[in-house]
Amino acid sequence: MTTSVAADAKILLKVAGLTKHFGPRARFGRTRPVVHAADDVTFEIQRGQALGLVGESGSGKSTIARCVLQVESSDTGSVELGGVDIAGLSRRRLRLKRREMQAIFQDPASSLNPRWTIGRIIAEPLKAHGWSKDRSEARVRELAEQVGLTPAQLRRMPYQLSGGQQQRAGIARALALSPNLIVADEPLSALDVSIQAQVLNLLIKLKSEMNLTFLFISHDLRVTRHLCENIAVCYLGNIVEIGPADELLTNPRHPYTAALISAMPMTMSDVGRKSGQIVLAGDPPSPLDPPSGCRFRTRCFRAQPKCALSAPPLDPSGADHRAACFFPLEAGFLRSTAVADLDVNDAATDPKVAADPTGNRTTDEVG
Ligand code: ADP
Ligand code: MG
Repeated sequence: MTTSVAADAKILLKVAGLTKHFGPRARFGRTRPVVHAADDVTFEIQRGQALGLVGESGSGKSTIARCVLQVESSDTGSVELGGVDIAGLSRRRLRLKRREMQAIFQDPASSLNPRWTIGRIIAEPLKAHGWSKDRSEARVRELAEQVGLTPAQLRRMPYQLSGGQQQRAGIARALALSPNLIVADEPLSALDVSIQAQVLNLLIKLKSEMNLTFLFISHDLRVTRHLCENIAVCYLGNIVEIGPADELLTNPRHPYTAALISAMPMTMSDVGRKSGQIVLAGDPPSPLDPPSGCRFRTRCFRAQPKCALSAPPLDPSGADHRAACFFPLEAGFLRSTAVADLDVNDAATDPKVAADPTGNRTTDEVG
């Protein structure tokens, strides 16, 4: 795929082939099991846009976020921020580049220093970059106003604020140095439901006012849809589907995405969607020993013997909406299928069938 210089200039974050395994490496000729936290993860985010990263707990979302932020080094792959591969930078140059990307965390209480006032916490990155006291105080007042904190709240300690106000402080601190990229790892998950919408609306407002770019991690597709132009779905360390949010949610191609969507509570806007939920069989397999071929096949209602033999690549066509599946769902699948009746195909879980290289046997023949 060729990309023009103009198209590249639009892209702020480009992650290619990012792989991160945890655990002991092979020793004395013996291979030891490793956790496949992220495998060959590739995506891009355009300036001013948000990519939502969704998937079950343990699917590798936080690992990807930490590798992007360079608090964790990846085993292989590149992370380009504004055209510069930050994985290969010296510590000094990385420190300068880090200003351009900041994190918002899940649990605001534990990410704020409990012994400092909110004002001092927000000012901390400014101080670290040598801002004068006066300039820094003016900037903190400006930031407080942007995120909806009062001057009085700046003098309080973190424990004196509600969860939503603490998260506003975390957002203000992240914005202090005017970053381009915000990596937000489940920033709403620890908040009361009534507060989540307020903080989400704040992020939407800041994104458009400041032309911010987001890598936004969530396990809630509905939340993601409000902020993100694009969504990437993770399963056991792989991105299994990526595409424009509305298109992916209306016409999912990967069976796992369809299962996630069917598990969303229905609202008035879902009129026309068939009721019922795709219930995935069993728990996700261990990331220490992921299934051969497609990692989702052991829970998939579409799986065929072929799925055990090789991993389907994320459709390399360059199209906006891509899925890593040999048997992708047809457009309109969720509206046309009584999903409650779907079941896992034994052909994908039975090793006898999986071993058949022709991939032609049917479930019935296996008996
Ligand atoms: P998510 O954020 O989607 O819940 P994570 O990225 O936190 O997923 O974890 C992905 C997998 O990597 C999980 O199986 C998790 O247990 C494992 N993992 C994460 N961090 C470490 C670590 N430091 N050491 C070993 N395993 C880890
Ligand atoms: Mg996580």
